[in-house]
Amino acid sequence: MFNPPAIYADPAFDMACEQFRLIADYLNIDRNERDRLLLPKRAVTVALPIHRDDGSVSVFTGYRVQHHLTMGPTKGGTRFAPSVNMGEIAALSIWMSWKCALAGLPYGGAKGGITVSPRDLSIRELEALSRRYMQEMIPFVGPHTDIMGPDMGTNEQVMAWFMDTYSSYAGRTVTEIVTGKPVYLGGSAGRRESTGRGVAFLVERALDSLKIEPGGCTAIVQGYGNVGSVAAESLYYKAGVKIVGLSDAYAAFYDPKGIDLSLVSAHLRKHPDLTGFQGAQVIDPEEMLIQPCDILIPAAVDRVINKENAGKLKCRILAEGANGPTTPEADEILDQRWEEILVVPDILCNAGGVIVSYFEWVQDLQNFFWNETEIADRLFRIMETAFSAVLKRARTEKISYRKAALAIAVEKVQKAKQTRGLFP
Ligand code: GLU
Repeated sequence: MFNPPAIYADPAFDMACEQFRLIADYLNIDRNERDRLLLPKRAVTVALPIHRDDGSVSVFTGYRVQHHLTMGPTKGGTRFAPSVNMGEIAALSIWMSWKCALAGLPYGGAKGGITVSPRDLSIRELEALSRRYMQEMIPFVGPHTDIMGPDMGTNEQVMAWFMDTYSSYAGRTVTEIVTGKPVYLGGSAGRRESTGRGVAFLVERALDSLKIEPGGCTAIVQGYGNVGSVAAESLYYKAGVKIVGLSDAYAAFYDPKGIDLSLVSAHLRKHPDLTGFQGAQVIDPEEMLIQPCDILIPAAVDRVINKENAGKLKCRILAEGANGPTTPEADEILDQRWEEILVVPDILCNAGGVIVSYFEWVQDLQNFFWNETEIADRLFRIMETAFSAVLKRARTEKISYRKAALAIAVEKVQKAKQTRGLFP
């Protein structure tokens, strides 16, 4: 089966293909349907010239991949990171499709990004690059075609620049073109916290299904960005979970007695990252992942749980805040350890972000806004429905949560494609 175009060559794309092959075999999906389900429908590369502060011109490369157009517009974040390439973005767009289908959102998946280290740009350069990216994307996106959102390396300010650039072209304010905007510019209450809150909600549901009380549990959080920090804080302040390890791209810390998160927040108010944090011992980031804990939350990048460390994990729950943190080889090992480790798979675990993005889009389209309590209620209702469906299928068919989640999601897209026919 399947000979993907060379433009997608990338380990993350291989991983998305392998995951799909496994689930397609499990579901006995016909050969004639497989390429159509997996291959992204559209993929765009754009050259992005900007004036640098020193007077020179740099050209950056931007991407946008729209995975399938069968169930509505496409939806997905925009990543600004040095790792960004067409294959990584394509893989992330495929995962967005499964995520949206599992949550029951009327979208296909998309993803975009720019190969850049945003920390190396001045604010003026970042604005120029963000605006140039949206400007080049205007022919390919729209509130009913493809709606961008935030991802690694982008934030509310970047989303506001995107919205403003698109609106200047349209001649009116089009808030519904992008989600993750500031609340006072058509953003949704609770969007910023939504992914992390969803992760914490599912961790508590998973603990509950194992009949473990959260109070007194220990957690290690890899990635202390928007997702990891909110998940850690929710578990720490609301559920009484002890955070024994945490890290970002620059430093990792461990203390079996527990880390005081108020000291972490105080540090981050004064510094751009965790480097120099004094509230716990420094640890090697790889070593941190294999320390004993009840809950391990990889909330950074893909492929961090791999065949080298999967056998050594000492957690009870692996809650995937990041996209694609676990490789298929690691999955095989974790499948054998299913009685020890419950994996809450990425397409379920981190779906809170795109679910509240969906609420933001709906609110913008209707120009009628909900408060934070309404948002949180609706978010948890969708996450509960998705979690129960995954749990039920996993138990009935005696398969992992990942397999159950992917099976539910892929079947939905398959059915939509079968019913509509070959065109979309
Ligand atoms: N970046 C988020 C994700 O990976 C969601 C993006 C959006 O809200 O569209 O799920």
